[in-house]
Amino acid sequence: MTYVFAALAASFAFIFWKIGKRIAATYRCVSDATLRDYFYGRLKKTPEAQSQVITHLGHCEKCRDRLHLLQRGKPLEDHLVSDE
Ligand SMILES: [Zn+2]
Repeated sequence: MTYVFAALAASFAFIFWKIGKRIAATYRCVSDATLRDYFYGRLKKTPEAQSQVITHLGHCEKCRDRLHLLQRGKPLEDHLVSDE
């Protein structure tokens, strides 16, 4: 009986760890390369990769601004260049 509980506890720990990892990943800013891949449609077609970027863009103004730079055809590394 103890083994059953231990196995259950281990399963739950694993599931929470997996979920936690995915949630944490949506809070991490996406890299320039990932953002570029997303914009040009080259991002891995897995729902996980897509939703991670979309969810992050939903709550990170910084990354949305970077995406807007891409949409306006500006390089992402131009933070030293004025916007005018
Ligand atoms: Zn971000």
